[in-house]
Amino acid sequence: MVWYADFETIVKTDAPLASRTWFGLGGPAKYFIAPRTAGELAAVVCRLRDNNIPMYVLGAGANLLIRDQGVDGAVISLHEPEFRDVDISERHVRAGAGADVPRLVLQCAKAGLGGLECLAGIPGTVGGEIRMNAGGVFGNIGSRVLAARVMDTHGRIYTIARDDLVFDYRRSNINAKFIIQATFELVPDDPQRLVSRVKEIWMYKRNTQPLAESSAGCIFRNANGFSAGALIDQAGLKGVSVGRAQVSTRHANFIVARPGATAADVLALIDLIRRRVREQTNVLLETEVIIW
Ligand SMILES: Cc1cc2nc3c(=O)[nH]c(=O)nc-3n(C[C@H](O)[C@H](O)[C@H](O)COP(=O)(O)OP(=O)(O)OC[C@H]3O[C@@H](n4cnc5c(N)ncnc54)[C@H](O)[C@@H]3O)c2cc1C
Repeated sequence: MVWYADFETIVKTDAPLASRTWFGLGGPAKYFIAPRTAGELAAVVCRLRDNNIPMYVLGAGANLLIRDQGVDGAVISLHEPEFRDVDISERHVRAGAGADVPRLVLQCAKAGLGGLECLAGIPGTVGGEIRMNAGGVFGNIGSRVLAARVMDTHGRIYTIARDDLVFDYRRSNINAKFIIQATFELVPDDPQRLVSRVKEIWMYKRNTQPLAESSAGCIFRNANGFSAGALIDQAGLKGVSVGRAQVSTRHANFIVARPGATAADVLALIDLIRRRVREQTNVLLETEVIIW
């Protein structure tokens, strides 16, 4: 009997992943699972654990590079409606892990609730952005999280309140495998003012990042106060290519995948950048992009 007996409707085998990532690269998942409810997620997670099948949680794939050989395990996506539900009540917003953040940002601004505008132009889901503490110069998502509802690999659900949450530069202390929902505490403000702020931040991003090209955002973490982009730029790497992967000419910490690129091209370019920056500045860059 196959391990996924009773779960046939939510499990796909040998499922393409490239189109589910912003890079548009990489091979298939041995198993791709889209549970419809938290109960179904818990049941399938227990079955995966009993069968020693590695689990990977996919958000919008905006910070992911999937290798060409694909993922030898189960990729779980929380994109079914129950996981995308958004509920706005007074200054609290409860959103499912699969909710699209750029859409949520606009929805809150229009409802007259401020605090998430800093995430304008950052593609991702609520789960992925909390896991990565997404943000930048305008602020980070973590500062607005009142509570996170999570599930571990035993299928146990629990809530982590603000006092127990720690958000750091592109990191959070959430160890549970799945973030399934979050509650944000926002601040009432004038909707028109908030929507203009969202637009302003989005324009800034559009002017400084290659938003229309295939990428995964910043490839490297800033190191000891040094901007990774500035180090790459100083090393003369802007515009340098390996195969069909190129260091963006607009933002040196972005790698863009040209048509025909492979994940191997991106990985080779990542190696080249790390080597050159190390030689010229003695800084060893660490990747921010998650590689599966
Ligand atoms: C054009 C572009 C611009 C970007 N600009 C920025 C920026 O300004 N600032 C910034 O911080 N980032 C930026 N990024 C990166 C990306 O938007 C963020 O890292 C975002 O948090 C990714 O969210 P996601 O849902 O796509 O997660 P994914 O890329 O799908 O996954 C990222 C990680 O989160 C985990 N994860 C996803 N969902 C869950 C969940 N429900 N529970 C537990 N773990 C989960 C995954 O397993 C993985 O480890 C940019 C990316 C692009 C393509």
